Amino acid sequence: MPDRSFLDWPFLDDSHRKLGEELELWCEAELAEEHGEDVDAECVALVRKLGQGGWLRYCVPAAFGGLHETLDVRSLALIREILARHSGLADFAFAMQGLGSGTITLFGTDQQKHTYLPAVAKGKKIAAFALTEPRSGSDVAAMETSAVEAAGGYRIDGSKTYISNGGIADYYVLFARTGEGQGHRGISAFIVDADTDGLLISERIQVMAPHPLATLKFDGMKLNSDALLGERGQGFAAAMATLDIFRTTVGAAALGFARRALDEATSRALNRRLGDGLLSDNPITQSKLAEMILDVDSSALLIYRAAWLRDVQGQRNSREAALAKLHATDSAQKVIDKAVQLFGGLGVTHGVAVERLYREIRALRIYEGASEVQKIVIARNHLAAFAE
Ligand SMILES: Cc1cc2nc3c(=O)[nH]c(=O)nc-3n(C[C@H](O)[C@H](O)[C@H](O)COP(=O)(O)OP(=O)(O)OC[C@H]3O[C@@H](n4cnc5c(N)ncnc54)[C@H](O)[C@@H]3O)c2cc1C
Repeated sequence: MPDRSFLDWPFLDDSHRKLGEELELWCEAELAEEHGEDVDAECVALVRKLGQGGWLRYCVPAAFGGLHETLDVRSLALIREILARHSGLADFAFAMQGLGSGTITLFGTDQQKHTYLPAVAKGKKIAAFALTEPRSGSDVAAMETSAVEAAGGYRIDGSKTYISNGGIADYYVLFARTGEGQGHRGISAFIVDADTDGLLISERIQVMAPHPLATLKFDGMKLNSDALLGERGQGFAAAMATLDIFRTTVGAAALGFARRALDEATSRALNRRLGDGLLSDNPITQSKLAEMILDVDSSALLIYRAAWLRDVQGQRNSREAALAKLHATDSAQKVIDKAVQLFGGLGVTHGVAVERLYREIRALRIYEGASEVQKIVIARNHLAAFAE
């Protein structure tokens, strides 16, 4: 039987245990393992389904159709972990509703919150978060897309790339340079409806674990002044505050993939004959399983610690979220690789769960801050605290 003992850890409470049980049953009844050719249509259907199931209510605050007064990171992490164990695309659909609305939750006006958040929670509006550019990925402060004041609003020119939900989103939270200062100081956030004139989906990007992804171009796109999200010049801080919440949950998705790989590998080892016994009798197999269990448990501890610090202690948790994301994504890659090895030839065969997991885990070590960037965050926080 798969290990679910982490649900009893003190970082979680009864509401999380209930959520875990209910979501598990829902996933078993509602989610398909394999996906077909039309990833856009499947993703739209998954957002609607997650909305009807009530799960997207965890992505927004209670005053705007959500469940908790403020976002509960432990619930977000638990949901992503469980969804990822069942379906990478379902996890993706859930995660983007959260990431693409998080900046509105944290910094939006009441009007903006009323317009977008209830629809996000019902799965009626699909959200996206547009930060990365062709010449500015990890180095966010180098972004070039410009927002120039014009005719009582803004004129936007530039490009964003690797934008999840690009092409199916109803709106984009967009970050652009308004020029109050150099580097990260001169950036502001905006909300852009997908049907705005001057917004073009210029390219669809195919990746190894398919999901909707696109390059956007802005050619003299006009926005009204009420599209500004948060304070002018504070867009970089708004993006980082949003990522601080969701970075922990990227680790949780990796953990879900790793748990699934461990379960698959365990069951395979217990059933596959090797010589006179079973693959699971072999000491080298047992050593692999022990290493996988260590990676899974240590990731879970870091993830729920980071989430608990924010939810219960009310602390900014950049260091802990970075530790959780770094360790969980890097170690999930190792866990899944070991699972593929234990499966032998079957492990690299299309249609087998560990093969799918092998493709799905890779991008998590790159997006929302590559592993190298997480190390910088961790070390800088450590050095600053030590020097105090
Ligand atoms: C599947 C997928 C979905 C995505 N979805 C979104 C989205 O919805 N919205 C969005 O805005 N972006 C999205 N991205 C973009 C993602 O956030 C960027 O790819 C990521 O930030 C890295 O930027 P880059 O690709 O430009 O790589 P670069 O910045 O060119 O970095 C390349 C590599 O250099 C290394 N590196 C980077 N910085 C440092 C450093 N300071 N020190 C040492 N090494 C370093 C890392 O290994 C990194 O992987 C997505 C990407 C992928 C793959």
